[in-house]
Amino acid sequence: MASPSISKSTAPTPPEVEPASTDAGALEHECDACGKRFAGPPPGSGLLVWTRGDEVRYEEPPLCESCAEKVATRAMMMFSFDDEDE
Ligand SMILES: [Zn+2]
Repeated sequence: MASPSISKSTAPTPPEVEPASTDAGALEHECDACGKRFAGPPPGSGLLVWTRGDEVRYEEPPLCESCAEKVATRAMMMFSFDDEDE
């Protein structure tokens, strides 16, 4: 009887990654602040609140990591200080 010697510990060879397939855009976002493109879920998003009459709209544009940090800092500063520019 021939014993099959199939090694299950052998890792399957990964298929070759096609280099020019990053134009799908499905998982790519453009930073709303600096326009930098990045893949994956946005690390942060700026919350925009629009008020048009009685209508209030919320928008969360994707932001890259550094811009999300900046926006968060700026938002905190806006709450902390009243930037009177006169
Ligand atoms: Zn950015």
